[in-house]
Amino acid sequence: MLSRLCAQQQPATLTQTPAVVKFNKRIARRLDHFRAPHTLASPTEKKPPRFENLDLSKSMLKALSQAGYETPTPIQAELIPRALDGIDVIGQAQTGTGKTAAFGIPIIDDLEPRSEVAGPQALVLVPTRELAVQVKNEITKLSEGQRVGCVAVYGGKPIRSQIEKLNRNAQIVVGTPGRVLDHIGRGSLRLNDLWCVVLDEADRMLDIGFRPDIEKILKRCPKDRQTLLLSATLPPTILRLAQRYMYKPETIDCSPAELSVETIEQHYFTVDQGRKFDLLLRLIEQEQPKQAIVFCRTKRGTERIHNQLSQRIKGTACIHGDMQQRARDRVMSQFREGKVRYLVATDVVGRGIDVSSISHIINYDIPQFCDDYVHRVGRTGRMGREGVAFTFVTSEEGGELTKIEQRINRLLIRGEIKGFESQQTSRTSVSEKPKPPPPTSLMRRPPRKHRRRL
Ligand code: AMP
Repeated sequence: MLSRLCAQQQPATLTQTPAVVKFNKRIARRLDHFRAPHTLASPTEKKPPRFENLDLSKSMLKALSQAGYETPTPIQAELIPRALDGIDVIGQAQTGTGKTAAFGIPIIDDLEPRSEVAGPQALVLVPTRELAVQVKNEITKLSEGQRVGCVAVYGGKPIRSQIEKLNRNAQIVVGTPGRVLDHIGRGSLRLNDLWCVVLDEADRMLDIGFRPDIEKILKRCPKDRQTLLLSATLPPTILRLAQRYMYKPETIDCSPAELSVETIEQHYFTVDQGRKFDLLLRLIEQEQPKQAIVFCRTKRGTERIHNQLSQRIKGTACIHGDMQQRARDRVMSQFREGKVRYLVATDVVGRGIDVSSISHIINYDIPQFCDDYVHRVGRTGRMGREGVAFTFVTSEEGGELTKIEQRINRLLIRGEIKGFESQQTSRTSVSEKPKPPPPTSLMRRPPRKHRRRL
C-alpha cells in the first residue's frame, strides 16, 4: 500500500492546482498515519473534543456553527481525524449518534474542485430510500455556502431525472445498492474519480440481502480508494466483508455500553393478540405522545392497524415498502413537519426515520430480530432527548422478549394497564423482579431457565 501511495504522489513539476495540493496533502497524511500509526491521541489523553481541534477548514467550521453543532459527538471525534488521514475505518455506531456527519464532514472538506475532477468523488451506500434522502439532506446542510453537488439515487423514483443530476457534476452520490448498480450499468455513474466509499448501516444492508450488489460495486471502485464502514453491530459477515474490501481498517467502537439509548424508558405489556388494538388506543389516550411510531411486523398488518387507527384518531399515517416512493416521501415530510402525529410503520422503512420530536415508540408487534428492537427504539431519544418505548408481548412471545433483554443487557419494565393482562399471564406467575440475564454472548440463544414465561 505504501509503495502504491508513494507512486501516486504527483510529480513536483505538475502545476500546483488546488486539486493537486489537496491530493498531495491527503496522500501525505495517509503515509504519515501508516508510518506513525499511534499519533492519534488515545481516548484518555485527548483534549476535550472541539470541532476547532479537528483540522477542519474555516468554511466547514462556519457550516457547523450554522447547523448548530457545537461539539462533536463521540463517533465524530473519533472518525473525523482518521477519515481525514485517508485510512480505512470501521465505526461501530448506531443511528442517532451523529454518524452521518462523522463521515460527511471529512468528505466535504476533502472534495476537490468541480472544475478539476469531473466524476463523483465519494459514494455513500445506504440500505433504504429514506436514509438516502436523510444523508443527502445532512450533507447539503453541512456544505452550506460551498456549492457541493450531492445527488441521492434510489429505486422508486424516475431514473431519468437522477441521470440528469448525475450528469450535472455530482461530487457525492448517496444511494441504495440496487439503484447504484443500475446507474453503473447504464454508464450514468462513473467510478474512476472516487476516492472514498462509505458503507452506511452496513449490518442492515447485509440483512436486507444487498451483499452481492455491494460486492459488485466495491469490485468496480478504484483500488486505492478509502473505505469507511459504519454499522450498529459487527457480526462475522461484516468483518468478512471488511477483510475482503478494506485496507488495514482501524476499528472504533462508539456503541453505547447498553445497546439501547440510556435515556429511553423501556416497558413491555403482556397482552392477548385480540386485545392489542384496544391496548394501543388506551396507551395513546394515557400517554398523549407528542409524536409516535407504531411498529408492525408486516406490510399488511401495518395497513390494517393504520386503517383502524385512522377511524378513531386524527393525524395518523402509515409507511411501508410496498407504497409508491412519492407517497412515502409525502408521509415522511408530513411526519417531519408534525402534521402526522402517529406513524404506523414496518421495520425496513422505520429504521431510517430521524425526527427528533418522536416521544414514543410502540412495538405493536414484537420485532422478529433483536437488532430491529434496538433500531426501532433508537428512533426516539435522539441526540440525548428523553423517550419512551412500549413493547406488546403475547403469551407465546416470552422467548423473544428475553432475547431482546439479553441483547440490550437490561430488563424491560413490566407495564400494567387494568383490564389488559394476558389471560395466560394471570395463570402463570411472572416473577416481579427477575434476575438480570447472565453476561452471555449476545448472539447465543438464552439458556432455558432465563427465558421469560408469560
Ligand atoms: P445521525 O446519527 O447521523 O442520524 O444524526 C442524528 C441527528 O443528530 C441528526 O439530526 C443530525 O443533524 C444531528 N447531529 C449530528 N451531529 C451533531 C452535533 N455534533 N451536534 C448536534 N447535532 C448533531
